Amino acid sequence: MDVSHILDPLNDAQREAVTLPKQSALILAGAGSGKTRVLTHRIAWLIKTQGISPFGLLAVTFTNKAAAEMRVRIESLLETPLTGMWVGTFHGISHRLLRMHYEKAKLPKNFQIMDADDQLRLVKRVSAGLGLDEKQWPARQAVWFINSQKDEGLRPKNIEDYDDLYLKTHLAIYGAYQEACERGGMVDFAELLLRAHELWLNNPEILNHYQDRFSALLVDEFQDTNTVQYAWLRVLAGDRDNLIVVGDDDQSIYGWRGARIENIQRFSEDFKNSQIIRLEQNYRSTGSILKAANHLIGNNAGRLGKELWTDEGDGDLINLYSSYNEIDEARYIAERIARWVADGNRHDESAILYRSNAQSRVLEEAMLRLQLPYRIYGGQRFFERAEIRNALGYIRLVSQRDADAAFERVVNVPPRGMGNRTLEEIREVARLEQVSLWIAAERLVADSSLTARKKNSISGFLSLVEDMDEATRGVDLETLVERVIEKSGLVPYYEKERGERGQARLENLGELVSAAGSFDPKQNLTFDPLGENIEDVSLLDEFLSHASLEAGDAQGGSNEDCVQLMTMHSAKGLEFPLVFLAGMEEGLFPHRMSLEEPGRLEEERRLCYVGLTRAMRYLYLTHAESRRLNGSDNYNRLSRFVTEIPEELIQEVRLQNTGARSSNFDINQTDGEFSLGQRVLHAKFGEGVVLNYEGQGNQARVQVNFSEGSKWLMVSFANLETIG
Ligand code: ATP
Ligand code: MG
Repeated sequence: MDVSHILDPLNDAQREAVTLPKQSALILAGAGSGKTRVLTHRIAWLIKTQGISPFGLLAVTFTNKAAAEMRVRIESLLETPLTGMWVGTFHGISHRLLRMHYEKAKLPKNFQIMDADDQLRLVKRVSAGLGLDEKQWPARQAVWFINSQKDEGLRPKNIEDYDDLYLKTHLAIYGAYQEACERGGMVDFAELLLRAHELWLNNPEILNHYQDRFSALLVDEFQDTNTVQYAWLRVLAGDRDNLIVVGDDDQSIYGWRGARIENIQRFSEDFKNSQIIRLEQNYRSTGSILKAANHLIGNNAGRLGKELWTDEGDGDLINLYSSYNEIDEARYIAERIARWVADGNRHDESAILYRSNAQSRVLEEAMLRLQLPYRIYGGQRFFERAEIRNALGYIRLVSQRDADAAFERVVNVPPRGMGNRTLEEIREVARLEQVSLWIAAERLVADSSLTARKKNSISGFLSLVEDMDEATRGVDLETLVERVIEKSGLVPYYEKERGERGQARLENLGELVSAAGSFDPKQNLTFDPLGENIEDVSLLDEFLSHASLEAGDAQGGSNEDCVQLMTMHSAKGLEFPLVFLAGMEEGLFPHRMSLEEPGRLEEERRLCYVGLTRAMRYLYLTHAESRRLNGSDNYNRLSRFVTEIPEELIQEVRLQNTGARSSNFDINQTDGEFSLGQRVLHAKFGEGVVLNYEGQGNQARVQVNFSEGSKWLMVSFANLETIG
């Protein structure tokens, strides 16, 4: 069989990895050295030459987007559509397993996935039920405790409390929370993994079945697996010696979320026959970008150590732009991208990466001003919007009355005069009688001691949901969603919310109806066409799980040509010809939370290494002398990460006729000059500070921050006087 198209585009080390005989291996290599390429080519090679069907392969990636991309690449190598192969995230695959074996996993057939928000609510309720003061025992802290225990594979009974109040209290919350989850048939994200792992441990016949089925297991971004994920892999691999993992210790950036960089070291001990293959040639970036990245990461201790090289030549120097403030920074980036597009490049070949989501707003405004289409990854995602969650809350209750999180969410949205006291009574009954909120509410209505007013508000809600159920029996998914929204009263409720926001919410509700209409579970990445063990999970449950799990890595159509905006975390594994790292400032990046702890500072540095190595040809680092973020003004020094890059690799960008690094743009005016930060006086608005400018000559406009807010003014008409 001719597999030259699979093997030819590889170097020797890559080819060795792709054609390894069946065995375990660790492919340890730096950014852009072809790790992901090795995985896809190996899968194609296994199918073409080793007689392994796609059905016998399991590939784990870090995001749904990465899984989809991998699928496309394999299909193009195989020149046929790929069906039956399990490729997805740990969460997605675990979810699939639990659906197929719900009984053995001790879950109800229509179990629901709780997202972070549902989880927080439930923890709050459980803590209150235990009589804990929210101030002393913040729910967020308890959520963090629960999730990190689950990530470590620990149930309350496995945890020693050392007679310590903090541990004892959190264990009590964890225990009560877990009971509430079991009662309501709800599963949080961390639970998906832990439960799937336990499913295998407790059911050897199921484990054997999957061990026999999968001839090869392949894992990308292995450096970011946590304890339970690694345990999950080890159990599945057993002694079959068929696990190939690829990773880069220098790109481990999820330690704060429980990832264990040590898993890389443990791998060779746990899989005795495994081989280590290193790839050192980089095919992504220019020499200057690579040298900068190598130097930067050289400041970390305890690395496994590897140096990247390229034979592509040095390329351009790295550009450093010092802006006056964040608006100037964003404007500069937008202008630079506009020029890039004008030169005949695509928008989506450019990416703006930042440390914190809050930075995106100003960048978006700059994109809008220059009419550059853009797309944000990992911002607030469609299924996370309040209006969507509310609609889904009703839908969930229709499907499952015991869904307490949904009950809490919508019982008084839109407001239906259900007072806090009434709600508290419902919770109390649920607590005492160990039943769901729904049943508690029913019991309260039946109880004659309640005032008529309270009774009415509760029974009004109960019959609304019953009504929805009746009106949607036997209809298709789209009609169901449409009718539930119609009956919920959400539409008039959002119509009252004035302005664009209300309008956007209504549009999103419409979008939810279309999403339901076009929902196809076969598109699910781990959908199994042979249907082994698949119980007929209702399409509705499938859709609700999809909404929680998928929550989309991104919003909007994926094929549009847009500038890509995302956090550095979300950029892992991706590459772009033109990359901006915005906000290279101490306190922002490295983040101030990481400054005290050496371990976390090193993780920030790895994140910077990830950022730098996304760039293929052009890399811009920008920082602002003053930055308004989250409502406060900051004057940050240049990030240490910039100073850790050798000076000779960096060129400072200077604009027009400006000299200093502080880059004062000068605007020539017939009778004077303005610069950014200049104080000016306007006859009507009073004193202000110049924030921004655009255009030249008669077209020149300045943005000035006056006490009543900022305004754009035509320089030639405004008659601004400079002060000082
Ligand atoms: P990261 O660590 O960022 O995930 P990676 O090691 O997974 O990077 P890939 O994304 O697989 O690297 O490859 C980086 C780029 O180099 C891709 O554009 C890929 O197509 C290209 N590439 C990899 N190997 C070769 C090769 N042998 N010849 C030509 N191009 C290659
Ligand atoms: Mg990769």
